[in-house]
Amino acid sequence: MKVTFLGTNGWYDTLTGNTCSALVQAADYDFILDAGNGIAKADRYITQDKPVYLFLSHLHLDHIAGLHTLVKFRFKEGLTIIGQPGIAAALNGIVCEPYTIPFSDLPYDVTITELAEGRHTLPFAVECLPLVHPVPCYGYRIETDGKVITYCTDTGVCENAITLAREADLLITECSLKPGETSPDWPHLNPEDAIRIAQKAHAQRLALMHFGAEVYRTLDDRRDVQERFLQSYPGLVVTFDDMSLEI
Ligand SMILES: [Zn+2]
Ligand SMILES: [Zn+2]
Repeated sequence: MKVTFLGTNGWYDTLTGNTCSALVQAADYDFILDAGNGIAKADRYITQDKPVYLFLSHLHLDHIAGLHTLVKFRFKEGLTIIGQPGIAAALNGIVCEPYTIPFSDLPYDVTITELAEGRHTLPFAVECLPLVHPVPCYGYRIETDGKVITYCTDTGVCENAITLAREADLLITECSLKPGETSPDWPHLNPEDAIRIAQKAHAQRLALMHFGAEVYRTLDDRRDVQERFLQSYPGLVVTFDDMSLEI
């Protein structure tokens, strides 16, 4: 299974990357994790002939601003957007005139599926639980092709992130803050927090994305994290836009 990081910035686009989106290419499906501006690059990597599932963590604009580019795609097997209860009404209020082309006018079928907390079969297995963020935000655990991928952003340290990441082949989480930095009023993770979650969950690998645009101003700032923490967590991967991983 191949994971490609389409947008690795948090908050806004800079020269270091686009806002949050990642692509997971499984045997029978293509999964997209969040729809920040990075989502516009998805068709560089996929043939668009498999069903596409788009998992939305929450409605902050750095995770959904790329929805206005959906009209460029030609998903032959349609698009299913997955989110928390209430997300259909919220999305239909944004992906509409006068802002952009509504879902109903896109050149492929779009279904919005709201998931309650817990485990579901979509037909692949997915588990979703709330994370710690100023607005409702879901983390996801996706099981397919004998692998587990967990996606948890945006969040502070929480038990649900550990639960979702248990024994995962890959935990993708955020790194909004620099080492040692905290933001109690608006919870996010620094590298140590993310590593602690991965270690407690016994995740095989940990990919960091959603680097705070105003905090990680250069790609060298990210490389410093890789250098500093790789020894304490050998499965650590600091991501950049257009980087791919095989899992
Ligand atoms: Zn964010
Ligand atoms: Zn957010």
